[in-house]
Amino acid sequence: MKISQALSKWYRANKRDLPWRKSQDPYKIWISEIMLQQTTVRVVIPYFEKFIKSFPTVKALANATEEKVLSHWSGLGYYSRAKNLHKAAKKISAQKYFPRTYIELLELSGIGPYTAAAIASIAFNEEVPTIDGNVIRVITRLFDISHDVNSRSGKEAIAHNAAVLIKNQNPSEHNQAMMELGATICLPQNPMCILCPVNKNCQSFKAHTMNQRPVKQKVRKQEPWLWTLYVVKKGNQLALVKNSNGTPWLKNTWVLPGEAKEWNNKTPPLCDFKHSITHHKIFVKIQHKKQKDLKNPNVVWASAGEMKNLGVSSIVQKVLNLLDR
Ligand code: SF4
Repeated sequence: MKISQALSKWYRANKRDLPWRKSQDPYKIWISEIMLQQTTVRVVIPYFEKFIKSFPTVKALANATEEKVLSHWSGLGYYSRAKNLHKAAKKISAQKYFPRTYIELLELSGIGPYTAAAIASIAFNEEVPTIDGNVIRVITRLFDISHDVNSRSGKEAIAHNAAVLIKNQNPSEHNQAMMELGATICLPQNPMCILCPVNKNCQSFKAHTMNQRPVKQKVRKQEPWLWTLYVVKKGNQLALVKNSNGTPWLKNTWVLPGEAKEWNNKTPPLCDFKHSITHHKIFVKIQHKKQKDLKNPNVVWASAGEMKNLGVSSIVQKVLNLLDR
């Protein structure tokens, strides 16, 4: 594909001279990718060089004490990354085989989909795209993807186009070029489109939507609530009311009587089960009550079978299932 070829050509001529790019050694690529998580390239370079000098091979890392490994990590933060590196190095050293495929790499401690794809493609040329924040930005702009990047359709569009771009290309060079473009040219604000090697193929450049891509809808903060539902029996029937007991959800739906309040305490309340409706995280507590305790006069009585015809909320069904046990 034209895009990948133009990108790779540009990458060969413009790539930054970074110490982990001097070879295709999977060990060095792995160390650099773990160090680069939540840390900038500038900060990582001296750490990487010192780390590789002290632990030049997987075996050297596996044989080091945890104390020594952590001392080399001191200042990078997120020490669980160093502990996982050490654990995985011991595993690789014991099995005397460095995993070569995306699937095998995912088995190692601390290696997620992005890092597995980076090692598999850069070191072993496996045709698997690396998809991180930089690459997501580049792809949503190249294809002018207007879906929210966190939605299912957005993720599918990104994964599809990433796979199309890398197909039948040089995976190692292609992925590094995509990441380099995102890090140096296709910047989050004010991308340098004039200098971009693929601006002729970029749909958002043509549509002037670069600064609106990627689309990230704000995730609404979850609101915790405690909803106490009353189980009031008359024979095989239960009392139901049209929901109006102060909840912002399921208005005018048949539910059990009860009361709801926002839960502002940091410790979650004791409850029988949890239920989510939009951004409301509801802790549901069941309370058995007598008919005389019902304050709501607009009650209807329904058996489990009759409830189906009334279209009661699924939350009522969950209560019935618990009562059946
Ligand atoms: Fe990014 Fe601009 Fe290049 Fe498009 S033309 S990929 S928006 S830098």
